[in-house]
Formats: sequence, structure tokens, C-alpha cells
Amino acid sequence: MIDIRENVPLGSHTTFEIGGKARYYVVVKTEEDMREAVRWSRDKGTRFVILAGGSNVLLPDKGLDALVISIESDRSSFRGNTLEAEAGANLLGLIRLASARGLGGWEKLAGIPGTLGGAIRGNAGAFGPEIKDFTQKVRALSTKTDELREFNVAECNFSYRNSFFKQNPEWIVTRALIELEPIEPSDSEAIIERTIAERERRHIQNVRAAGSFFVNPVASKEIQELFEKEKGVESREGRVPAGWLIEKAGMKGARVGGAIASEQHPNYLVNEAGATSADVKALAKKIKAAVMERFGVALQEEAAIFA
Ligand SMILES: Cc1cc2nc3c(=O)[nH]c(=O)nc-3n(C[C@H](O)[C@H](O)[C@H](O)COP(=O)(O)OP(=O)(O)OC[C@H]3O[C@@H](n4cnc5c(N)ncnc54)[C@H](O)[C@@H]3O)c2cc1C
Repeated sequence: MIDIRENVPLGSHTTFEIGGKARYYVVVKTEEDMREAVRWSRDKGTRFVILAGGSNVLLPDKGLDALVISIESDRSSFRGNTLEAEAGANLLGLIRLASARGLGGWEKLAGIPGTLGGAIRGNAGAFGPEIKDFTQKVRALSTKTDELREFNVAECNFSYRNSFFKQNPEWIVTRALIELEPIEPSDSEAIIERTIAERERRHIQNVRAAGSFFVNPVASKEIQELFEKEKGVESREGRVPAGWLIEKAGMKGARVGGAIASEQHPNYLVNEAGATSADVKALAKKIKAAVMERFGVALQEEAAIFA
């Protein structure tokens, strides 16, 4: 039985700490709850919005005239080297849980905020590995037909910060099978701690932001070569870091209201002091215009921007 509440403030449910109230709000803990919530919104003729860890979203100041479905299903179990977990499970929590059982391989994803489902939808990654490298199967619910379907990894159509589920938002990820490998728990724990320390050193941890605001764009050969020469790093898949483009376009530290393009990591738009959604959007617009003017490159948002 689901419990639908009204006029629930959303800001505290996001890492940006921005956003007005949800007209309707429901916590779901099972696939059946999820089905019920989706049916409720269909019957009522109200749109629904999925919110999980809230670490890759920008919600509007005026709130959402919608049913916000907060995914808090977080059970997990192990079979051999495979972890089966529900979509609302915290990613770092799962990495630590597996580590304590002597299973790992995915420790470099430690510190990415949010849930397993959110990570799968956006193929989250850090320092090389992405969640797709460990995903064996995904179960998802069609909000159009109520069908629950299993997707093998090929059907998930993962690519850089992208997946079938991002392209087809009528499908909600409900659980996944993650394939891990045996590792000494103390070795695994050491990699986790090193990874988190490195994230803190780079100022990409515990900030009021949505992570990288823009995806790293594909750029011309000329821009790739400029990047490679300057940074001494090879560009991957023809992409260059959005943060580097933002800095070169003179927008590092740019501000609108309480929002700033981070001095340490300019692709992080940070809620420094009571920023509104309008501040962040205006800052993003300025940054896009500057990067377009300087490089002719159109930046695209990685964060999900809701209106
Ligand atoms: C400080 C900080 C650092 C970050 N570092 C990284 C990083 O290193 N690498 C990286 O890849 N990302 C990073 N991010 C971004 C973010 O953590 C990831 O995108 C994360 O995977 C989002 O998960 P979430 O549960 O918070 O999703 P949410 O923010 O709640 O949702 C994001 C989008 O996914 C949809 N969604 C969520 N769950 C589901 C589901 N089960 N089924 C279908 N759709 C769903 C939502 O509707 C929304 O459109 C960072 C963010 C912050 C704040």
C-alpha cells in the first residue's frame, strides 16, 4: 500500500539542495509499490518524475506539478560472485558491502553519489571504469504496459553516460545483477579509501552540485590536439573534458547569483550560497554561449534538468 503525500519540499532530496515542492510525493520500496505509483499517476492524469539519490538532477524553484516517485528499494543478496540489488540501493553502500565479502573490481566507482538504478540509467563512471563493465542483467518496469522485463547487457545499450533507460524514460530500472570478482577485503577497502581520497583532493566530493553538469563533448581534431598538447593526456573517443573547454573559454569561477562554475573543477556548477534553479540555468546558458563562441562546440547537459 503506497502513501501519497502532498506538497513535499524537494530541495533536501537533491545534492544541489535546490527545488520547490512536489505536488504529490511517494516513497516506493518494492516493484509492486512502483507499479501502484505509476498506475496512480496514470489514473489521475498527472505526470510522474523518478527521483533516486537526487545527485544528477536540477529541480525547478517553483516545484513539480507531478507525482515524484522516490525510489528507496534497497535490498541486496549475493550468489557466488554475483550481487543482485534493488535500484534504490546506495552505490557506495553496495561497493562496501561486496568488499567486506571479498568481492570487488568496481572500487573506482566508490564515491559516486546516488543509487545503483541512477548509475545504470546514466552509465556512471569514474577514473576509467563505468557501471556497464560490471552489469550482467537489468530488470526494468515499463510504465506504459506494466511489464517487468529483463535486459541483458547488450540490450541495455550502454555508452558514455548513456543507456537504453536514459533514451527510453518510460522504463524504470528496478534491480540489477552485478558481476564481481574475488579480492582480499583489505585490498578492496584500500582501493575504496584511495579512490575517495582522490575525489576529495580533486574537489569532486561532497559539494552542492550535480556532479559534472555537462557531458564531455566530441570535438574536432584540432581541439583534441590542442587539449592533448596542453594536458599531455590522450583524448578518449574523440572527446575533450567539458571542464577544460569551460576554463579555456574564461568561465572558470563565473557566477550567477549563488551559483558558481567551480574554481577547482569548472564543469561542476556549485550552489555556493542559496542558489536557485534559475541561477544555475542562467549560469549554464552563459557557459554554453562562451564555449560555443570560443570553440564552436555545443555543450550538452549531463544532469537531468526538470521544468
Ligand atoms: C559530488 C558529485 C560527484 C559526482 N561524481 C560523479 C562521477 O564521478 N561519475 C558519474 O558518472 N557521476 C557522478 N555524479 C553524478 C551522479 O552521482 C550520478 O549520475 C548518479 O549515478 C545519479 O544517481 P542518482 O540515484 O542520484 O540519480 P538521480 O539524480 O536521482 O536521477 C538522475 C536521473 O535518472 C533518473 N533515474 C534515477 N533512478 C532511476 C531508475 N531506477 N530508473 C530510471 N531512471 C532513473 C531520474 O529520473 C533522473 O532523470 C556526481 C554527482 C555529485 C553530486
